[in-house]
This record gives sequence, C-alpha cells and structure tokens, in this order.
Amino acid sequence: MKDATTGTKVSVAEWKRNLIRQDEIDRYLVDGKDFIDDTAIESEIERGKGASPERIRAIIKKAYEIKLMDASDVAALVNVTDPALKEEVFKAAREIKTKVYDNRVVTFAPLYCGSKCVNSCKYCGFRCENGSIERRVLSMDEIEAEARVLASKIGHKRLVVVYGEHPDTDADYIAESMRRIYAIKEKVRGGVGEIRRVNVNAAPLPVEGLKKLHEAGIGTYQVFQETYNKKAYAEVHPEGTLKGNYHWRLYALHRAMDAGIDDVAVGALFGLADWKFEVMGLVAHARDLERRFGLGPHTVSVPRLEPAADTDFSWVKNWVSDDDFRYLIACIRLAIPYAGLIVTNREKPEMLRSVIKMCTQRDADTRVGIGAYTEAFSAHDQRENTQQFILGDTRSLDEIIRELASMGHIVSFCTAGYRCGRTGKKIMDALGSGREGCFCKLNAVLTFQEWLEDFASPETKKIGDEIIDKEMKEIRARVPADFSEPMWEHLVKAREKILAGERDLYF
Ligand code: SF4
Repeated sequence: MKDATTGTKVSVAEWKRNLIRQDEIDRYLVDGKDFIDDTAIESEIERGKGASPERIRAIIKKAYEIKLMDASDVAALVNVTDPALKEEVFKAAREIKTKVYDNRVVTFAPLYCGSKCVNSCKYCGFRCENGSIERRVLSMDEIEAEARVLASKIGHKRLVVVYGEHPDTDADYIAESMRRIYAIKEKVRGGVGEIRRVNVNAAPLPVEGLKKLHEAGIGTYQVFQETYNKKAYAEVHPEGTLKGNYHWRLYALHRAMDAGIDDVAVGALFGLADWKFEVMGLVAHARDLERRFGLGPHTVSVPRLEPAADTDFSWVKNWVSDDDFRYLIACIRLAIPYAGLIVTNREKPEMLRSVIKMCTQRDADTRVGIGAYTEAFSAHDQRENTQQFILGDTRSLDEIIRELASMGHIVSFCTAGYRCGRTGKKIMDALGSGREGCFCKLNAVLTFQEWLEDFASPETKKIGDEIIDKEMKEIRARVPADFSEPMWEHLVKAREKILAGERDLYF
C-alpha cells in the first residue's frame, strides 16, 4: 500500500496509526457524549418489563404509522413473554413488511475479497493471530473472475462485497474493485450477465476514503457495530486494535453520509450481548442518523454468531435461541419499520423460511471462502480455513427462488433506484409514507422476468411465470388508483420486449 501524498510504501503499523481521525469522531458527539448510554438503556429495558397487553397493542397499532419507535416502546416490546401477545407482534411484523415492501424479496450474494485483517475480534475466524486461516487478498483479475461467475452463471445483479481491515484492502482497493465489477458484461442465455449494484461491507473509513467509494458508485455502505454494549464491545475487540475504537466504528455511517453516501446499513452480531440491548442500540443508531441527516438506515442486518475455524466460543454467554431470534426480528420490523431487513445464509433453511415474511432481503448461492465462486462453483463445499464463519444454507439461487415463489414472494432484481437517483431520503420517504413504492413493484416484475428468461431451470421458470401473471393481474386491478394507464401500458410493452430479448428495462 502506498502513501497517498508521497507515493512511498507505508508499513501496516504506520497505516494503522494514521487511519483514525479523532476530529471525525468528535464532531458527532453531543456535549462530548455518544448516543449509546448503556446505563440508560439497561434501565429502560428494566422499566419495559411487564407492560400490559393494552399497552403492547397500542405500540403495535402505532407501528403501522411506519415511524421510528420510541425507546420506551421498544423496551416494552422486547420484554413481551406471553405467547399469544407475541403472536400479535409477529402478525403485525408480517403485515408491516407487506405494507411497506409488498411481497418482494431481494436477493444478493456476498463476495469476500480478502482474509487479511489487522484486528483480533474474539469471535472471528479471520482474526490476525488465527494461524489456521489461509491469508489471501484477491487481485483485481480474481475479483473480476469471481463476479463473472456470480453475474453470468448464477444471475445475481446485486453483490455485497466484503473486505477485511488491512492496508492491502484500503479505500483505493475497494473503489477499484467496484469499478472492475461494474464493468463486467457477459453474454448469457437470453441477454447479458452484469452486476448492477455493488454494496460494500468494509471497515470504518475516514471521509476522504468514503468519498472514493461514493465516486466509484457504491450502493449501500454497511458497517455493523457488532455490539452496542460498550462493556461487551471491549471484551471482544482488544484495546489498541483499530476495531477496539468503539467510537470510530459507531460514527462510520455518519461519516459516510457526510461523504455523500446516503444509503447506509446498520447491524449487530447477535450473541455478543443481551439481544434486547442490541435492538435498543440499533434503534438509537437509527434515531441519531435521523436526527443529524433526516434519514435513517436503508437496511438492518441481524447476523447471529456462528462457528468459525479454530475459534473458541466457550466465553459466549448470550447465545440467542431460535425463538428469541425470530422475535427480535419481529421487534426490529416494528421498531424501524421503513428499513429493509436482511437475513443471511448464516442461518439454516428452516429458520430462513420462518422469518422471511418479516424480511426484505436474503443472500443465495453464497460462498464465503476467498475465491470460492471461481474455485468451487459447483461443489457447494465449505472450506473452513478460507472462511470467516460456517454457512447454514448453501442452496442455489434457483432453488431459493423456487421456494420463495411457492411461498407467494416475487424476487426482485431491481437496482433502478440508485441509477435513477431514488436513493436516500427520496426512497425512504416513499417507503416511510406506507405508499409502497409503485416503481418497485413494476421493476420487480421486469427484473424477475429477465432473470427467469436468462437463468431459471424449467421448474423454476414455470412457477416464476405464474407469480408474474398474478402480479400483472394485481397491477391491472390497481389502475388507475395506484398506477396510471400509461404506466400499465409501458409495463406490458417492457415485458414483451424482455421476452423478445431486450434487457435492463426499468421505471
Ligand atoms: S470481524 Fe472483521 S475486523 Fe474483526 S477480525 Fe474478523 S474480519 Fe477482522
């Protein structure tokens, strides 16, 4: 890695020393304090215990207004224990998801670019002292090869590209890798395989680095706090490491907003601290983003701790049970109702099936080993020594789409939003108003049809076409209330064009 101003090589130690800019933390503090007050959150959770069914029902009712929930209401919600009342929360979570996002599910794949990392997170297979991991950073050609498999053999249109924290995968490397991925155009069955949205999961960067990602066309920038609980954070992220700086991470998304990236994503790694605390922390994070930028997170992710190569988990005291996991997803759905909610293949198929109606995105055909799409495309194998953690679901995108279609979901490959300037506040306002984005529904039909033509197995194509016919009937029935006559005509023509071989048509 080269120093940006002098062009000379800098050491890892020097790079680490220069990365964190204290002024890019301090400017966001209020009276020297951040927005996570551990004691206040813990007291709020205590006060939330034993809320009456009437209070919980009032909270549920308010959630349909699609506004960020008050901390005291979240605290009451996470403390519900009565199974019947919990069922009411689940029902509302499914309905709110449908109200905001209809029956759409967006799919994506992660692309891991490197296993080098300077940090020592106790729970992570990639921690720097773990000698069992093969250390490797993909070259630009290798990244391109990986993305070609995803775009042309599987048919993904959207990636989350994942980078460890290391000078070999700095902001310049990330920006360059995004440009290489966007440039791919690969001939496939009926059209072109290409990646149309590159989201980035990377370590916190300074504003200067984030501007480079913005210029390279980043979709969403994800930085998960892992745990909002400061004591738990310090226990798993050793002091003196970059990640040991809680505040540098906490304000990563604030810096992204200041760098012009208006789609940002929050998340917590469930299992590091009490899940109720994490839900409160996620809501507090969304509130601070709203307060400062008038805009909350684009998505929320809910990874749970998973086994990793040569990694001891005997210290974990807060494993989240399956029942609690399902319930915390319902709570987040109600508490941050406008945000997309992402579940991943860390979970097993049964779990994913049971929560998908509350969620908006999931990954499919996932490999998390470095270079795994190119090297082991058809094998579905997992090689522990190249992975950050072990996957729970390795099914193909075709299988997953078939399953989702059989559950009544249409899979959307739409990436029109950021290409038409419908990002940040514009899209969040449309979603937050409860007026389900009409563009999203039409684009789901067009992009799903495109995928069916280019990638589906005969079995999946059949069930997929049935879903599209159903969607078309529903859209027709909503003219002119929700869709104008010209929009309907445009949709019909665009679908015909796709069936005739045109691609990348959207509203
Ligand atoms: S969790 Fe991320 S930062 Fe921590 S060791 Fe793993 S790859 Fe590095």
